[in-house]
Amino acid sequence: MPIATVNPANGETLKTYEAMGEEEIERRLQLAEATFRTYRTTSFEERARLLNRAAEVLDEAQQDIARVMTTEMGKPVKQARAEAAKCAKAMRWYAAHAEALLADEEPSQADVEDSGGSRARVVYRPLGPVLAVMPWNFPLWQVIRFAAPALMAGNVGLLKHASNVPQTALFLEDLFHQAGYTQGCFQTLLVGSGAIDDILRDERVKAATLTGSEPAGRAVASTAGDMVKKTVLELGGSDPYLVMPSADIDRAAQVAVTARVQNNGQSCIAAKRFIVHTDVYDRFAERFVAGMKALKVGDPLEEDTEVGPLSSEQGRSDLEELVDDARRSGASVLCGGERPDGPGWYYPPTVVADVTREMRIHREETFGPVATLYRAADLDEAVLIANDSPFGLSSNVWTRDEAEVDRCVRDLEAGGVFVNGMTASHPAFPFGGVKRSGYGRELSGHGIREFCNITTVWHG
Ligand code: NDP
Repeated sequence: MPIATVNPANGETLKTYEAMGEEEIERRLQLAEATFRTYRTTSFEERARLLNRAAEVLDEAQQDIARVMTTEMGKPVKQARAEAAKCAKAMRWYAAHAEALLADEEPSQADVEDSGGSRARVVYRPLGPVLAVMPWNFPLWQVIRFAAPALMAGNVGLLKHASNVPQTALFLEDLFHQAGYTQGCFQTLLVGSGAIDDILRDERVKAATLTGSEPAGRAVASTAGDMVKKTVLELGGSDPYLVMPSADIDRAAQVAVTARVQNNGQSCIAAKRFIVHTDVYDRFAERFVAGMKALKVGDPLEEDTEVGPLSSEQGRSDLEELVDDARRSGASVLCGGERPDGPGWYYPPTVVADVTREMRIHREETFGPVATLYRAADLDEAVLIANDSPFGLSSNVWTRDEAEVDRCVRDLEAGGVFVNGMTASHPAFPFGGVKRSGYGRELSGHGIREFCNITTVWHG
């Protein structure tokens, strides 16, 4: 894939970039290693000062970078600004909390004595340069969610961003420099995915995190496994959204629309499969379809646009194939389902019902504004449908019955259960999945400790 900004709203190539050559990559790896040697010894106070400054720089740049993001990957500009604001908030959160999250831990005196020692503690030390392979869908957030904890822990970052968001990738490097970080703390490697294997095999790179598709995750994890390096993988999702009779159905249908089409439907934690109890199915379906039809689709730079184009032509044809396959196999398309004429990679908000297990749309991730609707006889069936997926990122449950909530928390195969609301990430809560959605956690204390050398210090 060429490294280029191609506007998804009209298909126009706005800027292309040469990939960095071997010499430049070598220079940057050397710099990362050299910088780590000193950066690792900085105090939490100094790291927090730098990260808070980076949050300020980002706030100042919010309007401009939002337009760049929208031009590179098509998200509505209002959502792009919200993404930038969320990143600044996460930076401030880690600046405020990292020291406590990484405080030394002391085992009980009884255990210390049982081990034959006099004193013991567990300390969290940084690992070194960490490679982040990141996707285009939240081009700032996915990176900051890695960078803020990594930098607070004393690691340094090497970013390989998706090839279609090079301007955002370069902005990120510049952001940290402007905030006062030394050059090697955070560097963007402008390279294609073909260069990743060699970079990850380099001894100076200590670990990797990847957010993206399953094939990309598998490739990075295999190389890392071969080199015995730690990885965190945040891959796709096909989150279920269960609606039970005791729920506020109108509210559930209204939130369902946002949960499905946020970021033009291209979010790993978007609700994608709507599993509704038969008693409230018709009412939910009617309101949900009406909400999807009412969305304003159009130019993502317009303030009132709710759904913009998909990020690439390939992304649109992949989505279209899933809907066409379902239709051919007997599914009903309740709204949308036909690509519009004209420029740009638009696809309308679409609801597909009467989905069966054999259809591709049941098993694969719909990365765009396409929802599937299922009817369940009871909670048992709803949980069965929900778990009948290779993915296990998050889940949503709408009910006022606490016993049903408990049952979902016990049985849903996912890294999150969001009750009477939609899944959203927050710096204080761990984020990640099970099954093919990946492993490891980002955010919270769990996220910052992923790339630490958890060290036992024992005194005889
Ligand atoms: P990819 O997974 O291909 O891209 C994500 C990142 O991985 C990019 O930086 C990409 O680089 C890199 N990459 C791709 N292949 C490899 C490889 N073999 N080795 C190392 N790095 C690699 O996502 P796509 O854009 O192709 O999207 C395809 C599907 O992935 C979507 O339809 C969706 O299902 C899923 N996806 C999930 C996301 C999530 O948030 N979990 C985000 C994006 C996609 P480059 O751009 O240079 O290829």
